[in-house]
Amino acid sequence: MQKELFEFERPGYYGPYGGAFVPEILKTTIDELTSAFEKAHADPTFWQQYIEVMQTYSCRPTPISYLENLSNQLGGARIYCKREDLNHTGAHKANNVMGQGLLVKRMGKSRVIAETGAGQHGVATATMAARMGLECTIYMGAVDVERQRPNVFWMEQLGAEVIAVTDGTATLKDAINEAMRDWAASMETTHYVMGTVCGPHPFPQMVSYFQSLIGKESYQQMQKMTGCLPNHIYACVGGGSNATGMFLAFLDEGNVELIGVEAGGKGIETGQHACRMKGGKLGVAQGYKTYFLQDQEGQMLETHSVAAGLDYIGVGPILSYLYDQKRIRFESATDEEVVEAAKMLIRQEGIIPALESSHAFAAAIREAPQMKKEKIILINLSGRGDKDIFNIAEAIGDEKWELFLKQKVQNL
Ligand SMILES: *Cc1c(COP(=O)(O)O)cnc(C)c1O
Repeated sequence: MQKELFEFERPGYYGPYGGAFVPEILKTTIDELTSAFEKAHADPTFWQQYIEVMQTYSCRPTPISYLENLSNQLGGARIYCKREDLNHTGAHKANNVMGQGLLVKRMGKSRVIAETGAGQHGVATATMAARMGLECTIYMGAVDVERQRPNVFWMEQLGAEVIAVTDGTATLKDAINEAMRDWAASMETTHYVMGTVCGPHPFPQMVSYFQSLIGKESYQQMQKMTGCLPNHIYACVGGGSNATGMFLAFLDEGNVELIGVEAGGKGIETGQHACRMKGGKLGVAQGYKTYFLQDQEGQMLETHSVAAGLDYIGVGPILSYLYDQKRIRFESATDEEVVEAAKMLIRQEGIIPALESSHAFAAAIREAPQMKKEKIILINLSGRGDKDIFNIAEAIGDEKWELFLKQKVQNL
């Protein structure tokens, strides 16, 4: 059976994880959202409308590619990948924002807000707002605004107001606080577009629902292409939306191993990483209960990853539960392994992967050579890597690129 929703006895809880820990003032709007989502979910025309938008606006269904060169080079399992990089705006994030946009229209609201770190979710949300005729405000740490100029430029061109938050460390968590303040003051007209399967209920359930399209398509495509289901499926895990979206459809298939790959950063022993499952502790923050990277006193720790999209202290409550149940195996890949994996995919297959997605590739590349040739691996290629040109060029140490940058700066 293909799952699209992960339901449990206590709504919004997955074992001990999840819940909706929100300030009293937000409770009505969270309840309103929950009921709007439940109604939309029960209405088959809503899903139909969603599929139609995704087909005509975001190239769905995205194909699955057989990576023949990479498979041959590694000499083990046959490797396939799901091409979420071919979505409009370049990643699986489109699935989520378009779904929430349709829900906003149903609720009759006129404005959306979101926070963004690297800017990918901000660009996706601004794109959706332009397409759906909604007002849009994006909160971003002032440090990130400087680091991510190109994304800020596009958000503004798309009609969004980008607010640089200077509080605290002026990064993602401060932007989240500011966005929450806005929501509390504007909830009658405004919807908060959560970027991943985290935050208070109903967000983890709702975002999983929209992202479940990835696994549903893959289930059928793999059967058609190979006559069976994959033996191992790999996906990178930031907040967990691309992984949850891929895994849900295969949960009840006991022979399909599911592997989530977190950011190993500079190595777990250095403390500079984002491995919540291996290094985190149960806690409540940002509206929900899950594994967070925190110290003895419960203070949130700094995280690090070469991939901005995986650089986050929490992880989706559904994944925490499935980890406890041993349904998902968690691995990590270091920044160095990830850049090597990206280079390999670029040279062997002509595909430029996002550094986030390259985590899934790094783990699969490590394990594939030990597998028998008839085994099948499916990797979720969550997004394309054009956006990572600065990081990849720096990691590779490309001299011509550095010269080009220097000349640009001198001409400013
Ligand atoms: C944002 C992002 C991620 C991380 O988010 P999840 O919610 O864990 O999927 C992964 N890959 C890409 C390409 C992204 O843009």
